[in-house]
Amino acid sequence: METPVTPKSLPLRIHEGLERLATALRADDWVGARAAGVNPTQFAIMASLEGRPGGLSVRDIAQQLGVSQPSATDSIGALERKGYLYKAPAPSDRRSVRIVLTEHGEASLASAHATRSVAESAAGALDRAQQEELLVSLVTMIRHLQESGIIPIQRMCVSCRFFRPYAHQDAAQPHHCTFVDAAFGQQDLRVDCREHETADPSARAATWAEFTRDHTLNPPGI
Ligand code: SF4
Repeated sequence: METPVTPKSLPLRIHEGLERLATALRADDWVGARAAGVNPTQFAIMASLEGRPGGLSVRDIAQQLGVSQPSATDSIGALERKGYLYKAPAPSDRRSVRIVLTEHGEASLASAHATRSVAESAAGALDRAQQEELLVSLVTMIRHLQESGIIPIQRMCVSCRFFRPYAHQDAAQPHHCTFVDAAFGQQDLRVDCREHETADPSARAATWAEFTRDHTLNPPGI
C-alpha cells in the first residue's frame, strides 16, 4: 500500500498530476471543438495553424499533433470541406502544399477559444510568482522534449534566434527580443510566438546555458 512514507517517485507523481490536468484540458477542448462544429483533432489542427499566415505542411501538422500523416490528411480534408482551411502551393516548391486557415476558420477558432476556461482557471489558483515559476518549468520541460526529438521545435523564446536572455541588468526585465528591440521579463516569455524563428542548434544551446545560469552570483556585464 502506498503511504506518505513510501510515496511513488516525484517524477511519477508529477506525471500523475499532469495526467489529471490533461484530462480536464481534453474536456475543455471538446467544449471548444463543439463550439467550432469540429472534433478535437480537427480543432487541434486549426489551433496549430493559428497565427501562421504561411500555413504548415501536412507533415508539420502531423508532427505537431503526434498523429500519422494519413490521419492528419483525413482531418484536413474534413476541415477543407467545412471551409475552415485551404491548400496553397508552397512558395519554395510549387509541387507541395501548405495548409492555411481561412478567415472563417480564424473567426470560428477565436469564438471557440472564448468558451474554454479550464487552463486559465487552474492557473488562476496560483499567485503571480507561482505562475511565473510554472511558466519557466513548462518551458524547461517542453524544451527537453523538443531537444530530445520527441516533439517538434515549438515557437518559444528559448529556441528563437531573436532571444537574448539576461541582456539587461534590470531584474524585472532582464531579457531582450531583437525582433521588436525591447526588453521583457520572465513572465513575458512566449510559448507560441508568431514572430519566432528557430535558432540553429549551437545558438539554442548557448542561449539555454545563459538562460539557466545563476545570474544572482554573476550578473551580466560584471
Ligand atoms: S520573436 Fe517572439 S519568440 Fe522570438 S524572442 Fe521575440 S518574443 Fe520571443
